[in-house]
Amino acid sequence: MVEASEGIVVVQVKLASSRGFCFGVEDAIEIAESAVDTHGAGRVVALGPLIHNKQVVEELEKAGLEQNGNLGTVDAAKTVLIRSHGASPETFARAAERNLNVVDATCVLVKRAQTVVRQLHEEGYHVVMIGDPNHPEVQGVIGYAPNVTVIDHGADLEKELPYKERLGIVAQTTHAPEHVADMIAEILKRPYREVKVVNTLCLEVTRRQEAAVTLTRDVDVMFVLGGLHSANTRELAHLCEQEGCNTYHLETWDQFRPSMVDGCTIAGLTAGASTPESVIATFEQNLSQL
Ligand code: SF4
Repeated sequence: MVEASEGIVVVQVKLASSRGFCFGVEDAIEIAESAVDTHGAGRVVALGPLIHNKQVVEELEKAGLEQNGNLGTVDAAKTVLIRSHGASPETFARAAERNLNVVDATCVLVKRAQTVVRQLHEEGYHVVMIGDPNHPEVQGVIGYAPNVTVIDHGADLEKELPYKERLGIVAQTTHAPEHVADMIAEILKRPYREVKVVNTLCLEVTRRQEAAVTLTRDVDVMFVLGGLHSANTRELAHLCEQEGCNTYHLETWDQFRPSMVDGCTIAGLTAGASTPESVIATFEQNLSQL
């Protein structure tokens, strides 16, 4: 329930042309549901949240999908579900050692990044990944080659980047192309003999970023819906803020406060790749009825 606020004047809600669920998240949910159907409720364990969206994860839990980030404590009689972010070869090897049945819901684009990292290493490149070292996708991908260097911001270039003659560069799928291009430009200022860049960015994410940035030009305030831990949702909110638009990153309508739209006539709405349409529709409906 939203408390009354005299200053509210929102008259129009505009939706970003590209928003919400991507095919990788849709596939992961379908694979999880089918695994629970096949093996039974309480018999499938996801190695951490399937996707970075609390509402979806809670729904799956209700349907019988369990969650345990510690592979070593998963009951050997249960099926392990690898989430959309993927996992390192070491995780697959440990599951095999324990004879665990594994269902793999890794997004195909994350799988491609894993393959590229392995190939770059085999071709003799020192692999550099531009990404957040704490993100599960990055932690999985860097397992596909030894000694991968992870850099996220300009400051990491001085601190982390070793001098090797041949660098092979990939990026976290959800990063903004502009950020990745800036990092590569900085690397090229250094005396590396060869730099090979393989584009591992996800076009689904890039499309949502472009649509959100375009929308900021037509609205007084932007709402970006999605998990607070979702890297692609946070990136969307960051890009909208960078455009100088008053931006709120919320998970659901419950977090909305009337003061957020005081004096606004047009509100923009977008959502990260792991945000279900139901959350977007509820938010849009409630905002339109203020
Ligand atoms: S955002 Fe892109 S890389 Fe991530 S799950 Fe969706 S399709 Fe795959």
